[in-house]
Amino acid sequence: MFLAEPQQTPYDFNFQIMGFRVRVSPFFWLMAIVLGWSWASAMAQVYSRDRVSPAALKVMDDPSNPMYQRVAANLKLVDSNPGQGMLLLIWVAAVFVSILVHELGHSLAMRRYGIHSYMILYHFGGLAVPDSAGSFMGMSRRSDPYQQIYISAAGPGLQLALAGAVILLAKVAGYKVAGYALPVEIPHLSELLHLDAGRPIASLPLLALAQFTLLPSIFWAILNLLPVYPLDGGQIARELLTMYSPRDGMKNSLMLSIAVGGGVAVYGLANDQMMLGMMFGMLAFSSFQILQAISGRGGGYGPW
Ligand SMILES: [Zn+2]
Repeated sequence: MFLAEPQQTPYDFNFQIMGFRVRVSPFFWLMAIVLGWSWASAMAQVYSRDRVSPAALKVMDDPSNPMYQRVAANLKLVDSNPGQGMLLLIWVAAVFVSILVHELGHSLAMRRYGIHSYMILYHFGGLAVPDSAGSFMGMSRRSDPYQQIYISAAGPGLQLALAGAVILLAKVAGYKVAGYALPVEIPHLSELLHLDAGRPIASLPLLALAQFTLLPSIFWAILNLLPVYPLDGGQIARELLTMYSPRDGMKNSLMLSIAVGGGVAVYGLANDQMMLGMMFGMLAFSSFQILQAISGRGGGYGPW
């Protein structure tokens, strides 16, 4: 099962943050490298010396050329290119911080309700596991729905706050964030927040750090808010639908999970996003299995 705690290994990285124990499975690093490989290599190539055209160098001879500023900024990025290995390292560090902040959101929310927890980072991202109540699901069943929704939303919420903090920091430092530094172009957001104003980031490690923090933070938070089990959005959907209909809420949330998970799977496979497609295909299938299991028992609640 997805929420089963991964086994401890001698290669686990253990530490404490804000009073919470954190265990990082070696497969977390492996998955981060696999996911970041193409980003790092694409960035290393785009800003390589070989890609600088003679035409671009000619622009540098004439400061009155309207393209001058842009080419100059790009050349600074080329000059500061630390290479694919270093860019990959920046990616792994950024993903680590991003996922850790996500789990920290859950753990801090649980602490607010007197539930102590610890965090695990593993190949599917992260988990914040309550110490006392045995299983996460077991706890969620007994607690009050608003409390559960708050705990589930706090992870993606804090992660989006991290993305917001990176954008704010860049703005305060006078950099423009729109375009290359922002992984998704949200209509009107750039104008609204003046993201396009300011000078371009002229150091590739810094640009990579901003981009590689924003990209996983925004995508991971949004993916996790989809109403699919056992993601945070799936937990929120279950609580909301159960409040609306105590009898059928669980069943309805599972059907929603199958529909949305299946939809994302098809979208992923149709758009060459194999990882996304496979992950959500598996989630939709496991929701289907749970639905069958509870339907067989006359719509009673599952063990979670
Ligand atoms: Zn979460």
